[in-house]
Amino acid sequence: MTEKKITSIGRCYACKRTFAFDPGTVMMFSIDPETGLIPGMTVFGGMREPTPEALARAVDMPICPDCVSKAKKFLEAEDPFAGWKRWPTDER
Ligand SMILES: [Zn+2]
Repeated sequence: MTEKKITSIGRCYACKRTFAFDPGTVMMFSIDPETGLIPGMTVFGGMREPTPEALARAVDMPICPDCVSKAKKFLEAEDPFAGWKRWPTDER
């Protein structure tokens, strides 16, 4: 094995597409399994302060690069600072 990258196969949370990713660099969304949404995101697509309970039960789901760029555009169109926690790129 000379490959440096560890590749995993997962299903994109957003579009359900199966894709290969490097677990060290892939974008993960924290998803509240109870709502299927990002903690703090309402079913209407708005954002509010996430509850501690929602943050505690949130699980990381991989997002494919297509959806990452779509989500970024969406978030930039909205108020990017409205309770949105930073993209977890530097946490690993
Ligand atoms: Zn996707």
